[in-house]
Amino acid sequence: MHYNNIKRYYIYIKMLKKVEKKSLKDSRNISNYKSFPKSEKIYINGSIFKDLRVGMRQVNLEDKDFNSITLYDTSGIYSDKNYIHSYDKGLPKIKLDWSKKRNDVIETTKTKLKYLKLNNSKIKSFPNISKKILKNKDHKEITQLYYARNNIITPEMEYCAIRENEGREKLVGNLFKKQDLVTPEYVRDQVSKGLAIIPNNINHPESEPMIIGKNFLVKVNANIGNSSVLSSAYDEVEKLIWAIRWGSDTIMDLSTGENIHEIREWIIRNSPVPVGTVPIYQALEKVNGVAEDLTWDVYKETLIEQAEQGVDYFTIHAGVRLRYIPLTVDRLTGIVSRGGSIIAKWCLAHHKENFLLTNFEEICEIMSKYDVSFSLGDGLRPGSIHDANDKSQFSELETLGELTEIAWGKNVQVMIEGPGHVPMHKIKENMEKEESLCKSAPFYTLGPLTTDIAPGYDHITSAIGAAMIGWYGTSMLCYVTPKEHLGLPDKEDVKVGVVTYKIAAHAADLARGNTGAYHRDYLLSKARFEFRWRDQFNLSLDPETAENYHDQTLPSEGAKIAHFCSMCGPKFCSMKISQEIKDTAEKGKREMSEKFRELGSNIYLKKD
Ligand code: SF4
Repeated sequence: MHYNNIKRYYIYIKMLKKVEKKSLKDSRNISNYKSFPKSEKIYINGSIFKDLRVGMRQVNLEDKDFNSITLYDTSGIYSDKNYIHSYDKGLPKIKLDWSKKRNDVIETTKTKLKYLKLNNSKIKSFPNISKKILKNKDHKEITQLYYARNNIITPEMEYCAIRENEGREKLVGNLFKKQDLVTPEYVRDQVSKGLAIIPNNINHPESEPMIIGKNFLVKVNANIGNSSVLSSAYDEVEKLIWAIRWGSDTIMDLSTGENIHEIREWIIRNSPVPVGTVPIYQALEKVNGVAEDLTWDVYKETLIEQAEQGVDYFTIHAGVRLRYIPLTVDRLTGIVSRGGSIIAKWCLAHHKENFLLTNFEEICEIMSKYDVSFSLGDGLRPGSIHDANDKSQFSELETLGELTEIAWGKNVQVMIEGPGHVPMHKIKENMEKEESLCKSAPFYTLGPLTTDIAPGYDHITSAIGAAMIGWYGTSMLCYVTPKEHLGLPDKEDVKVGVVTYKIAAHAADLARGNTGAYHRDYLLSKARFEFRWRDQFNLSLDPETAENYHDQTLPSEGAKIAHFCSMCGPKFCSMKISQEIKDTAEKGKREMSEKFRELGSNIYLKKD
């Protein structure tokens, strides 16, 4: 190496180390950042599996009718005030014993990897990497789908049921009916029919079980991961903790730069939510970014490597068939999926069928050994309004339906990825086609973006589509941040993306008749009408921003009990005026009733 290049290289390493040090400091700040105001971590125990402790968020209220509300909590043990976290140790392994007790897994050494080069790593490796991994024993079936089909209720299933109920068990007979509750048996039933999945790699024992399906709460995914130009391991762990604090139900590590393996280890060991990946990204790194050089061998090794690290679901673009590629030629924006374009390039260079399709059965066999779920990728999704719902998109969806049946035949759990860029009037057709072609396997959609004219605001263009498709039946929404199409999202973009998508998911939950979602809305509206400002902030998706906006004009403590805000002012506050009308009407009713009693409580009065 030339002297100047060596010098530049060392300056680069020094700079990376500085970034890591700074990031570590920042991220530790976040882990100290416990619950939201007036919120506390509570735990609900299992009934079938007594040792289950399902973490929930209890928001304490000043409401005279309701002391508190229990909410679904994605933040893991990070928001427990008694917990002190160490990034270097990772999270407690809450599921390890459940897997071992089933007696169908073995602890074994990791598979030797030929293509992975760790020597050039520029970042610190996770210091507590386990030497052993879990794998199915003696070809036994170990997926949640297999157990469900064999009428076995697992701790994972009961955990999901408790989370979905959001503490409604104790309010049955009062606010809720028994049929509003999700039972472990219902979870089992939905998984057994392929209508829901529990992403649950046995090598990710740190993750808290959750369910994705159209008859459950709508979930949100946040994408994190470094690019070849920006970001370090600590930055990504920091983004993970930040994303789940705001409500992300799963995260996808979409790293494409160097050190993918190491960054993933840090993320998985510190993640209480399932982690998804797109393995073709790493496979491509292993062949120096040359798509034509990809081989089944390199890809297969990458699947095993990631399954043994603990990835819970894989995006696999097996539906991009050679014969569909010419259908994209007349598109305005061609193939916009990274994975889809890599596969298309490989197919054309070799003039061969997609190797993910031709090796699909073997992929299923690998995934079933660790219970990794499929997220069957939409490599031909439309990348513009012009290309929505075209032949190539729906041809691929048809193939995904065929692959779903093959995966189910091997007891591998499946969800289906969906578009993309779709105008509002074409969204419903996507949901209907997915349900008929893919037999109602959970749909996992990116947006869809409902217009292309708002770069910088694509979290909004896409949340409109996400709310609609969620209402129609989508199970999980992949968030879009304001930086979409423009750059790698930073921490603030992650928060804005997640909160925006929580709005879409919650709006869909309401439209789908979820009673818990309705209850939260009811309590917030009640707090607003009764001028309990603190309750209004604390029941919202982003209490800090709500309070901050209020305090920008009326910061004093007295304003927190005032019967107006600065928007309309005291004289024009319609809430205050309606409350006065209500009070006057109540007073009138009381007076009339007293008069009725004074006159002897007779229904008919004699004429004088
Ligand atoms: S002043 Fe206007 S915005 Fe503020 S609480 Fe009253 S009605 Fe609502």
